[in-house]
Amino acid sequence: MTQTKPFDKCPICCSELAEKQVVKPLRSGVYTAVIKVRAEVCLHCGERLYSQETVKLFEDIRRKPL
Ligand SMILES: [Zn+2]
Repeated sequence: MTQTKPFDKCPICCSELAEKQVVKPLRSGVYTAVIKVRAEVCLHCGERLYSQETVKLFEDIRRKPL
């Protein structure tokens, strides 16, 4: 269990990924929560890849009423 990066290459275009902090809007009912998370961002096509932990965080936020 030494893998820290969930992705090596962009699954869309196989380009390099860079870890960046991105702003992610999450809708929860009539509200939208905007959170900052780390994501792997494709330098070529801009695809964002989130780790499983981050995806789980999104789900937790979506489930919670604000
Ligand atoms: Zn790409």
